[in-house]
Amino acid sequence: MNKERIFDVKNNINNDKKIVNQIYKSNNKKYFITTYGCQLNVHESEKLAGVLEELGFTHTEQMAEAKIIIYNTCAIREGAEDRALGNIGSLKKFKQKNKDVILIVCGCMTQQKENAQKLKNMFPFIDIILGTSNLHEFKSILLNFIKEHKKICNINDDFNLTSENMPLYRTSGENAWVNIMQGCNNFCSYCIVPYVRGRERSRPLKDIIQEIIHIIKENKYKKITLLGQNVNSYGNDLKENEFQEKPTFAKLLKEICSLEGDFKLTFMTSHPKDLTSDVIDVIANNDKMLKEIHLPIQSGSNKILKLMNRNYSVEKYLSIINEIKEKIPNVRLSTDIIVGFPQETDEDFNETLELLKKIKYDNVFAFMYSKRSGTPASIMEGQVDEKIKKIRVNKVLQLVKSLSKK
Ligand code: SF4
Repeated sequence: MNKERIFDVKNNINNDKKIVNQIYKSNNKKYFITTYGCQLNVHESEKLAGVLEELGFTHTEQMAEAKIIIYNTCAIREGAEDRALGNIGSLKKFKQKNKDVILIVCGCMTQQKENAQKLKNMFPFIDIILGTSNLHEFKSILLNFIKEHKKICNINDDFNLTSENMPLYRTSGENAWVNIMQGCNNFCSYCIVPYVRGRERSRPLKDIIQEIIHIIKENKYKKITLLGQNVNSYGNDLKENEFQEKPTFAKLLKEICSLEGDFKLTFMTSHPKDLTSDVIDVIANNDKMLKEIHLPIQSGSNKILKLMNRNYSVEKYLSIINEIKEKIPNVRLSTDIIVGFPQETDEDFNETLELLKKIKYDNVFAFMYSKRSGTPASIMEGQVDEKIKKIRVNKVLQLVKSLSKK
C-alpha cells in the first residue's frame, strides 16, 4: 500500500470513529457475537469483529451489556436454523427495553431471500439483515444505520464481491484462519452451500502469502488453517501467473511451507474426488504440515454416494486412504458421516459401519440427514423416518467409541 493510500485509509477510519463517538457519548461501546455453524462462519465473525474494533467497539461475552448484538447464522442443518430463530425470538423483550441496542442477523441463513423475508416478518425488531455476499458492506451499512436509524435488509446476488480485505480481529487462540477460496461447484444433492455461497472463487496466491507473512510476523499464532469449502480445487478458476504456472492447492501448500517461521499448517475441508497425490506428497514431505487429514466420506454405500452426487466410489475413497496411510504412516484421519439420507436401507447403513471399522478414523463427525429446501435431496422419494435416523446416528457414535477404546 502506498503512503497516500495509507493516509486515506487512516483518515477514513478516524472519520468513521468520529461518527460513532458522536452517537455513543458514553464509554459503553461493546459488541456481542453469536456464531453458528462451520469454521468459515467463525472466520467471518472475526471480520465483523475486525470492523467493530476498528470503529472503537470492544468485545463482550455478556450480551446484556452490548450495544451491538450480532447473530451470524448457518443454514446447513435444520437444528442450527431452529436454534438461531429461538435465540433471536427470545430477544424481543430485551430489545423493547433497550431501544438503542442494534440487532444484526447475517450469514448463510439470511443469504436465502425467502429466509431473510421470513426473519423480517417474524422479528420486526431486527435492525439489520445481511447476506453472505454483502459482508464487505458491513461497515457502511452499520454506519448508515447509526446515522439514520432506518432498518436495513440487504441481500446481494453478486457473489463476486469480496470480503477478503476487511479488517480482522482473530479470536481462535493460537490458530489463525486464512480463507483461500469461497463457494463450491460440487452441488452435493443434500447441501445448500453452492446456493448461499455461490460458485468457487479462489483468492490470488500472492494475497494469501501476504496475509500469512503478516500472521507469522505477528508471532502470536502457532497454527495456520487454510479455509475453503473444497480446498483441493483451489486455483481451478485462476489464470496462469507470469511464470505460466497455474496455481494449484499443492503449489500453495508448498509455497507456504517454504516461508520462514515457527508455525504448523493445516487445511479444511477436502473433497475426496479432488484430493490429489501431489497434495498427499506435500503433507508427507514437509515438517510444517500437520500430519492430519479430514476427508468426508459421508456414506459407505455406493448407491447412497451416487444419490448424494459425491462423484467418487467407496473403492476410490479406500484407494486414497491407502495412499495416505502408506505415505504418512502417523497420519490422523477424520471424516464426516450422514446417516438417514433418502433411500438409505439397513444394508446401506451397515456398509457405512463396515467402512468405519475398516478405516479406524481418529475422529468421526456423524450427523442425521437434514432436509434443506431447494436442494435435490429434499424432494427425493424414500425420506427416512427421524426415529431411524436417531438409532443410526447412535450406532455410529457407539461404534466410534468402541473403536477408539481399542
Ligand atoms: S463439496 Fe458438497 S458438501 Fe461440501 S460444500 Fe460443496 S456441495 Fe456442500
